[in-house]
Amino acid sequence: MVGDTANGPGPRRGRFLEVRFGAAMKRAVLVLIDGARADVLRDLLGRGELPNLARWVIEPGGGAIGVGTTVFPSTTGVAYIPFLFGRYPGSVNIPGIRWLDRHGADRARGWREQWRAARSYCGIQGGWINQDIAPAPSIFDLVPESIAICTPLTRGLRSGANRIPIRRMILGSAAHYAGTYPALDRAVARAWLDAVSAPWRFMFVVFPGIDGISHLKDPTHPAVLESYRLVDRALGDFVGRVQKQGGELPAFFVVSDHGMTVMREHCDVAVRLEREGIPTLRHPVHVWRRGARAATMVSGNACVQLYVEPRSGRPHPRSESEIPRDLVDRLLALPAVQLAACRDDSGGVIVRTRSARARLIQTSGLVRYVPEGGDPLGLGGYLELDDREMLSRTRETDLPDAPRQLLQLFRSPRAGDLVLAAAPGADFRGPWEIPEHRAGHGSLIAEHMEVPIAASVALPDAPVRTVDLMPTILERLGVAVPSGVAFDGVPFSRLAAITEPLLC
Ligand SMILES: [Zn+2]
Repeated sequence: MVGDTANGPGPRRGRFLEVRFGAAMKRAVLVLIDGARADVLRDLLGRGELPNLARWVIEPGGGAIGVGTTVFPSTTGVAYIPFLFGRYPGSVNIPGIRWLDRHGADRARGWREQWRAARSYCGIQGGWINQDIAPAPSIFDLVPESIAICTPLTRGLRSGANRIPIRRMILGSAAHYAGTYPALDRAVARAWLDAVSAPWRFMFVVFPGIDGISHLKDPTHPAVLESYRLVDRALGDFVGRVQKQGGELPAFFVVSDHGMTVMREHCDVAVRLEREGIPTLRHPVHVWRRGARAATMVSGNACVQLYVEPRSGRPHPRSESEIPRDLVDRLLALPAVQLAACRDDSGGVIVRTRSARARLIQTSGLVRYVPEGGDPLGLGGYLELDDREMLSRTRETDLPDAPRQLLQLFRSPRAGDLVLAAAPGADFRGPWEIPEHRAGHGSLIAEHMEVPIAASVALPDAPVRTVDLMPTILERLGVAVPSGVAFDGVPFSRLAAITEPLLC
């Protein structure tokens, strides 16, 4: 077998490593536990139920699990972009797991184009996210010796490096409707083990079970907790296999892409608009809605983006004065809505709650928060801060990193005219969804934005975003970032230095 001679232990394997990578080759594994909550992970660790995570990741990294922030909308796929591209979703023009292509939704276009325009990465359009992401190198491009297991984002992977794509599709569809996520997670664990003997420098391993079962049941349901233990056992098996083959352990990064909360209220904005007499284009079966005056694109399900007059053929998004004010007021009055945001007429972003309003502006490296009545983000008043200082200032609020996350989302011309983030306990899709989501994510609230970050390398003594992981991993691997490539994140090694003045 080719694999045995080329990849197994022995002289040829040693020569391969020496020639290809040099003696100081370093490797890294990024394990993405989709929907894992930092508090649940910490509880299980405290009870000694995740011994492999403790021993092989957290102890070598300094003994503590970190909590970072993800991106808005805090939803699967979209929130993978920071890990694999080092960019915010808005920076690469992906505003959500569902979004509307204004051009394609034009009423003059045919049914096929209208269906394509109502983008949803939740179904058969799932793979399109790879083409939709704006030109930018992925970590797979920069580290060609990469292997990925169970990921929807595959851009840059070499032939054969995307493991179990068929099983992901079949087991993933079955799991979505029948809840058989453990079978999918076990397939991931097996593929991870099988990949040990291949030549690789970077592995991206996704366990979707915790997210999937949480949606169906509850984020702390016994079946969900068992999924955490399954991931831990898979990690232990992987370490055992690497050691058995005489290999050095890679650097481990174990993360999640979003939090998760129980949903007590399904406030379907599309259904409400229809009741008000506003025909609304929406998924899954109303993407051809006749005479649509609005479109709703839901992510998570606790984020919804609204597009006004979606059939007009107008290619450009609308700013505040072009969005019916009474519509915004009616939506803000819904208890399910935490805040609304839209583009400011003169650049920047307007953020509103029921009783407050502020303007967010990015100018020459600084972020300005300008309250214009009340304090919608709860920051205590006017602020003008460097990006990382703003992150620090917002980190302990109910809406961590909200200024940066709203600004990055509206960088995408594809983002809706109006964006709503749900209040705790609420989402924006009705109970008609099959299966009904009893728990969810997607909003800007802390419970959805905070994610665990564990690493076998030291975490910085500063707030971390998920977008910082890719630069950190590249640095760890000794991979130079090509000139002209810019990341939104910062490697851990530079974070302490950047935030040092704050400590004075
Ligand atoms: Zn989810």
